[in-house]
Amino acid sequence: MNTKTLPNLNQINNLLSALSHPARLRILLTIGQGEACVCHLEAHLGYRQAYISQHLMALREADLLTTRREGRYIFYRLADPSLLDLIRQAGSLANVTQAEVDDLTQTSPRSQCCCPHCAEDNSC
Ligand SMILES: [Zn+2]
Repeated sequence: MNTKTLPNLNQINNLLSALSHPARLRILLTIGQGEACVCHLEAHLGYRQAYISQHLMALREADLLTTRREGRYIFYRLADPSLLDLIRQAGSLANVTQAEVDDLTQTSPRSQCCCPHCAEDNSC
């Protein structure tokens, strides 16, 4: 058996480990091709803000997300949009249809969110 370290496989493993939580998958899908702030994700997913922040931090540490500040909002974006393809492919291996996955990427504005992306549609 080959016992020498396999750094490339470790990198793949680190990536998959960072993804391997349902909340993280939902966060990544909700961000989708666009960007989202914490309050947007909170309004969308119904998770507590601290819970979302904890997962965002893990995704950032794995270099899966980039951030942009606008006023008092910090927007999160996928570091590489091909992550969505990876999730879709993982879905098809797990018998989840592309349509079901894509349903989770619908990020229409929510009345509870007052971020600059949602505010013009809401009464913020
Ligand atoms: Zn919003």
